[in-house]
Amino acid sequence: MVQLSTTVTPAKEQAEKYAASVFETIKKRNPGEEEFHQAVEEFLASVIPALAEQPEYEKQGILERLTEPERLITFRIPWTDDQGKVHVNRGFRVQFNSAIGPYKGGLRFHPSVSGSIIKFLGFEQIFKNSLTGLPIGGGKGGADFDPKGKSDAEVMRFCQSFMTELSKHIGPDTDVPAGDIGVGGREIGYLFGQYKRLQNRFDAGTLTGKGLTYGGSLTRTEATGYGLVYFTREMLAAKNETFQNKKVVVSGSGNVAIYAMEKAQELGATVIACSDSNGYIHDPNGIDIPAVKQLKEVERKRIKEYLQTHPDADYVENGNVFELPCQVALPCATQNEINAEKAQLLIDQGVLAVAEGANMPSTLEAIDLFHQNGVLFGPAKAANAGGVAVSALEMAQNGTRLSWSFEQVDAELDRIMTTIYQNSSEAATRYGHEGNLVVGSNIAGFLKVADTMLLHGII
Ligand code: NDP
Repeated sequence: MVQLSTTVTPAKEQAEKYAASVFETIKKRNPGEEEFHQAVEEFLASVIPALAEQPEYEKQGILERLTEPERLITFRIPWTDDQGKVHVNRGFRVQFNSAIGPYKGGLRFHPSVSGSIIKFLGFEQIFKNSLTGLPIGGGKGGADFDPKGKSDAEVMRFCQSFMTELSKHIGPDTDVPAGDIGVGGREIGYLFGQYKRLQNRFDAGTLTGKGLTYGGSLTRTEATGYGLVYFTREMLAAKNETFQNKKVVVSGSGNVAIYAMEKAQELGATVIACSDSNGYIHDPNGIDIPAVKQLKEVERKRIKEYLQTHPDADYVENGNVFELPCQVALPCATQNEINAEKAQLLIDQGVLAVAEGANMPSTLEAIDLFHQNGVLFGPAKAANAGGVAVSALEMAQNGTRLSWSFEQVDAELDRIMTTIYQNSSEAATRYGHEGNLVVGSNIAGFLKVADTMLLHGII
């Protein structure tokens, strides 16, 4: 397992033994689930200083209980394409931990979705949600369905079949799904429509990321990307730096990437590149965000089509967007997109800060390299918590039947992201790892959940 420091005390030695033995059990019990192992390994290595201070966590089996989902549901999703052919996909919902509130976390529709991916996402969600300071537990779900190239009618039939089973397991006080990769406003609309029809109730608080006409919150669409930039602004400020005149590179061109680019440009940066799974565009004068929105949100086209309206930009098929020199890198596509080699290239070309909009986009080796080379590093569970934070604000608005203004939600998002930065930074210092936001965010997220689990008894 990853080692964080060499100072050894008997309590720390015992904590390390405890974490290592839990990790061994996890690997045995969940063979082949590499993404899940990776997320747990990073977490366990980080919380050792907190375990060393509180032996009760080991006695009460807190790590064993935290790493085993309360419930994992898998189900069949049959649906019919436009030619009348029947297809079957696999659906998942992991209800990981409900110590501090109802399960909350997005749904991912992507062909790579597996039990391992849903479990790593659900596990991280526990601590992310805790960091927001809002009363939400951790969950995640999805299906190995690829919405790309499907008609609206096919996506609708798929969503209806998916929700027919999922509806048995969710509700405003039980489990509240939202969007993630491949699940945006269109999919949430179809999912909510089917849920409402099955329940014969308008339970707005059962899904977040809804449209504004049926209980959605202003700023939810922008929240993860804007929140990422607010968090990165705080990281930079700690080193007396700002976004002003910085070159920024973003991976992905979906929901998180678009609004991270928009806010970074608003704060004075030049975003020179973004990507999709086929390649990247490079526009040294600054990416034209409305053009990317039109391509991706309205026309659902590939990013290379940007060249049709911006012939001076470059497109690199299958390229690594992080090969471009930049001061700030914001990975906003998917897990493990930055390995050690890409991290080293970013470092060699003078990157100042890397903040994760995607979930677990950096490998453990890449994170070590960033830390060893003094790169400011913002881990996903802190840096991209803005989406779920505003989802919880959407639930609050649904509960009171009120709608808050864009400015009100945006100000609250900014406050939450700034507080997450401060709490993570303070926890890192308090536990002997000043500047290490991986340690800080894991410990800050963990303590609230673990202490609440102690209060609830053995469940
Ligand atoms: P979208 O589906 O809107 O966009 C995803 C983007 O990433 C697309 O450009 C997509 O390209 C690219 N991408 C996805 N998978 C891969 C892959 N395997 N290889 C290369 N590129 C890929 O998703 P979001 O923007 O919502 O999510 C992006 C990331 O942010 C995910 O890691 C998600 O978990 C995380 N996140 C999202 C939140 C939200 O509120 N939406 C909240 C917190 C985290 P292509 O179209 O070619 O597939």
